[in-house]
Amino acid sequence: MSKIIDGKKISLEIKEELKNTISNMTTKPCLVVISVGDNPASKVYVGQKEKCANYIGINYKHMHYDTINDDDLIKVIEKLNKDKKINGIIVQLPLPKGMDETRIVNVISPLKDVDGLTYLNAGLLLNNKECLASCTPSGIMELLKYEKINLEGMNAVVIGRSILVGKPMMNLLINANATVTLCHSKTKNIEKITKKADLLIVAIGKKHFIKKEMVKRGSIIIDVGINRVDGKLYGDVDYLDVYPKVAKITPVPGGVGPMTVIMLMKNVLLAYYEQNKQE
Ligand code: NAP
Repeated sequence: MSKIIDGKKISLEIKEELKNTISNMTTKPCLVVISVGDNPASKVYVGQKEKCANYIGINYKHMHYDTINDDDLIKVIEKLNKDKKINGIIVQLPLPKGMDETRIVNVISPLKDVDGLTYLNAGLLLNNKECLASCTPSGIMELLKYEKINLEGMNAVVIGRSILVGKPMMNLLINANATVTLCHSKTKNIEKITKKADLLIVAIGKKHFIKKEMVKRGSIIIDVGINRVDGKLYGDVDYLDVYPKVAKITPVPGGVGPMTVIMLMKNVLLAYYEQNKQE
């Protein structure tokens, strides 16, 4: 097996599997993405979702608002919740300044919450129960599974405690019986902690924050960071510096990123099955 964890290749394999599954379905799952404002990164992410859904055969609808207030957006979501033809709903984050993201996201029916961001899905994950889990951490779990990494008893360190990445990542790893340390911006002597990690997952949004002095020899490094500098993408890990010292590492781009979109599609399919389950 290669030292580079090739997220692009693995995501393409899953993509073909999903396409094949959906081609055999008489009714197709449907995803709605709601965006507000003109965030350039959001435009790119929405476009990637549309392209992937179209390829796989998931019905896709994009609802864009230049501006909308919280209450009106909530009414839109409530209507979508009731629509039986719609299986997954995403509110593309970040919303424009001043909008209450937490309140809005929590209006999404937990059964259609394919980003896994509602309190209910986050709580189910915490309790190690079946749920729609956040896509980026689920994608990382798929990568680790694909690489046949046994997480049981492993000393895993996650840097970053966001609701989207760090915290669900921590819970997924705990549920897989790893021993997990979660670090954040207030963590003291972070280097002392990262140097002991068999598995280091970095999700902070700081270009090349992790250097070779901070990692354990022979460890596995998962770089979630996407930092755009002068039109180029960089991870949170200084890849070239760290590469010779570690056993496995994800590149940026081509590591975690492609897995996120594909796990979203997988969640839409899971949501469809759950909503059409015969009791
Ligand atoms: P976020 O909400 O901004 O959270 C960043 C986290 O990093 C916070 O918990 C923060 O700590 C911590 N942090 C910041 N500086 C730190 C430092 N110097 N030392 C230790 N911890 C530090 O970001 P996010 O949404 O989790 O995203 C993180 C990165 O992943 C970003 O680059 C984002 O673009 C990328 N991302 C990639 C994908 C993908 O598909 N590849 C998906 C989502 C996100 P505090 O809580 O103390 O502030």
